[in-house]
Amino acid sequence: MPSTILVIEDEPAIQELVAVNLTFAGHKALRAATVEQASTLIRAELPDLILLDWMLPGSSGVQFARKLRTDERTRDIPIIMLTARSNESDKVEGLEAGADDYITKPFSPKELIARIKAVLRRRAPQLTDDMVEMGGLRLDPATHRLTGRRRDGDAQTLEIGPTEFRLLHFFMTHPERVYSRAQLLDQVWGDHVFLEERTVDVHIRRLRHALSPTGHDYLVETVRGSGYRFSTAAVRTEGGSAASDVELAADLR
Ligand code: CA
Repeated sequence: MPSTILVIEDEPAIQELVAVNLTFAGHKALRAATVEQASTLIRAELPDLILLDWMLPGSSGVQFARKLRTDERTRDIPIIMLTARSNESDKVEGLEAGADDYITKPFSPKELIARIKAVLRRRAPQLTDDMVEMGGLRLDPATHRLTGRRRDGDAQTLEIGPTEFRLLHFFMTHPERVYSRAQLLDQVWGDHVFLEERTVDVHIRRLRHALSPTGHDYLVETVRGSGYRFSTAAVRTEGGSAASDVELAADLR
């Protein structure tokens, strides 16, 4: 799945090299040469990951990493520091400032892409192509296929729309946690997209419908007053999709 990666690097040749390699690896690359440019880009669209040069004109990369970590909106963005320094104390300072990883220049494009993948796998698994299996469902982001295990043990391919697929991918990589409609909009649709929270309800309903042929719709729980949760501890109600039909009726009122 393509990720949006912001490259903050003031040396044009390195910025170009990194951006080209990111694009080649299937990511969307945003570029900034200064902290000010980066801040403007971040205000417009929250990136999935930031590659942050240590030495920048004006404000240092480490200072900017600290700032990103104190802002609620940017606190969870994975950060990889790029630097010419290889001093151990610098590395510690970068990691203490909130960086997730650290790459010393010069680095190979292959190493850069591998580090990005490793950080995303740890911090944002819904952005990787790793297969996820849970609660009798198997979701494959690479082929965009979803299968559910029937009660007789056979796997059945489930028809699912692209938005519901992304929503389920997020849920399956973040199980047992309650997410509000606003949080799901940020995580699945992107925080630069302005949609009514009711949109989430519509896609939850479609998701449950997509999971109902193998009786897995019960995994998507409504948590009254809070939002939704994907839980393998959810109770399967008799009659399978009865619960979502009740909610469907409630939504339509
Ligand atoms: Ca620099």
